[in-house]
Amino acid sequence: MSDKTVHTGGCLCGAIRFEATGPALKPHTCSCKICQRHSGALTTVWVEFSADNVSWTGPGGAPSTYRSSDYSSRAFCPTCGSTLGAIDDDPVIALLVGTFDDTGRKDLAPTAHSYRTGRPSWWRVSISNK
Ligand SMILES: [Zn+2]
Ligand SMILES: [Zn+2]
Repeated sequence: MSDKTVHTGGCLCGAIRFEATGPALKPHTCSCKICQRHSGALTTVWVEFSADNVSWTGPGGAPSTYRSSDYSSRAFCPTCGSTLGAIDDDPVIALLVGTFDDTGRKDLAPTAHSYRTGRPSWWRVSISNK
């Protein structure tokens, strides 16, 4: 895992921007209720970075946070409300792949799926790792 790929992304209005340097860890989907409520999406796609490898580069600086569990806070833009991800108590920042400028990078393709039972029966998630 020596992939030093630099990923960039940000919120809808551009106030919160990030630069995340690889390796991109644990790319996965999540269909838990917390993710659903935070994002509005039935299934979210996550990727984790060491907190040292993420910098907030936009004019708004770091995102606002909401304490969502006993080990993590959800991160969002205070101007436009976009969700960006989660800032854990561990030195880990998990980013939502939908916020990335280039979502097509192969190292972002999910390799695991959390809370599958949170998906409605009519919802299917299909991942191509090609
Ligand atoms: Zn924003
Ligand atoms: Zn979740």
